[in-house]
Amino acid sequence: MQTDSIAMTPVTTDSDHRLGTVGIFGTGDFGRTLGLRLLQAGYQVVFGSRSPQRSSLLPQGAQVLCHAEAAKTAQVIFLAVHRDNYDFLVPLADRLAGKVLVDISNNQRRNQYLEPNAHYLSKLVPEASVVKAFNTVSAWSLQSGGLDANRQVLVCGDSAESKQRVVDIARSLGFTALDKGTLLAAGEIEDYPLQLFPMWRLPGAVAVGLTASLFAYVLLTDVIYTWVTSNKDMSFRIMVSLANMVFPMVSLIMLSLCYLPGVLAGFLQLYNGTKYKRFPDWLDRWMLCRKQMGLLALAFAFLHVLYIMIFSIRYYVRYKVVSWTISQMKENQSEFDNTVAWYTDSYMSLGVLGFGLFILLGITSLPSVSNAMNWREFRFVQSKLGHLTLLLCTSHTILYGWKRFLRAQTYRWYLPPAYMVVLVLPCVILGLKLLLVTPCVDRILMRIRQGWERRPIPGGASDTTRANGKEPLML
Ligand code: NAP
Repeated sequence: MQTDSIAMTPVTTDSDHRLGTVGIFGTGDFGRTLGLRLLQAGYQVVFGSRSPQRSSLLPQGAQVLCHAEAAKTAQVIFLAVHRDNYDFLVPLADRLAGKVLVDISNNQRRNQYLEPNAHYLSKLVPEASVVKAFNTVSAWSLQSGGLDANRQVLVCGDSAESKQRVVDIARSLGFTALDKGTLLAAGEIEDYPLQLFPMWRLPGAVAVGLTASLFAYVLLTDVIYTWVTSNKDMSFRIMVSLANMVFPMVSLIMLSLCYLPGVLAGFLQLYNGTKYKRFPDWLDRWMLCRKQMGLLALAFAFLHVLYIMIFSIRYYVRYKVVSWTISQMKENQSEFDNTVAWYTDSYMSLGVLGFGLFILLGITSLPSVSNAMNWREFRFVQSKLGHLTLLLCTSHTILYGWKRFLRAQTYRWYLPPAYMVVLVLPCVILGLKLLLVTPCVDRILMRIRQGWERRPIPGGASDTTRANGKEPLML
């Protein structure tokens, strides 16, 4: 798909179409707003309407004619009419021959019609040059001139000249135009406004699923267990303690899930002995939503940090600290435990470092920042620093468990605490990654990624390399 922006092309000064007359068929919400903006930009506007006399609320300075008359006056005509009503164009087909018809229509749902609206339009008026544009811009953002809304207009069409005319109009209204290629892209452009966070669906479902199951797990092992075995009501822990257990665990799993597909892909490439074999679809889809998965993980880590901040002002914590202090005083114990000091400092320090790097990963995933980096820098941050973040956060969680791993009372109803269960995935990923970066494995993987194949196609490039005496390494 062609995605070159043509926003940078100079605005043509051809007065024939620049600041000339623009036609708009339809005097509804979009037509009226577009007419006003075009008038403000210096164009003459002629509306084509079914009932020119009855049209109201039209911008001052615009002319309203019947469709046939309006078609005569303008070379570029916007169709601010719903697709279902396009039939009125059929009798006008001769009048519209050679004109640029801008199809701005949207649908209610995907696959509503068998063919894209723009294709349907070019069949109805075959002699006209159809350009698909402006459908991704709402009447509201058109009114605000794109100041606080989407400023991008996606454009496609088979005639470069017609597209350029529409691009010029878009630019003079304060929008940027993105050339999406020929009219074949119309279906994709029409689907665009119907999308609802498509890349966030899988990460969102994973986040909700993990939060619900981990919450059920800690509720069982922390609250229900105490209530059943000691008849003690610890349900107040649900609001802060349990939430503050669940959020960092979800964050750690989701951060691990960002790095698992990369590790799996590495092992798949080693197994296949080539990079030219396609990954399974599920792995492809997973890889594509890693950014969203990571950003959600960062959001959960933020929640953990916020909960940590309110910890010391909790009634329960203040009560515990005071009781502990009194008991220490009663027993006359005030010895400073160096090991505990080391443990708590290390635990907190690893958490802070992990969170700091996590924020850095989040910032570099922003398009404005990642665009300023080259591929090597981006890979360094997202892969090397990313794995380091995973290592720090995993170590932070391991230190949280510390001696508790060995205490029998930690295992309630023979169940390990949730953070132990959660640690399995990041530990496995870090172990596998360590295997992949060992020099002998890394060397083979690098060669595969540079195009070498273990079983080359006879006569292919890799075969020639072998014939030249550069025998590839075998797994
Ligand atoms: P609208 O307010 O319903 O206006 C549609 C206009 O079409 C009417 O005012 C009418 O104008 C004309 N019309 C109605 N029935 C007709 C018929 N049988 N034959 C010929 N003309 C007829 O709709 P809109 O919101 O302006 O949307 C117009 C188009 O823009 C749609 O395709 C929509 O998908 C697209 N769009 C809208 C927005 C938005 O934010 N509103 C954003 C992007 C794209 P006359 O009475 O003057 O003939």
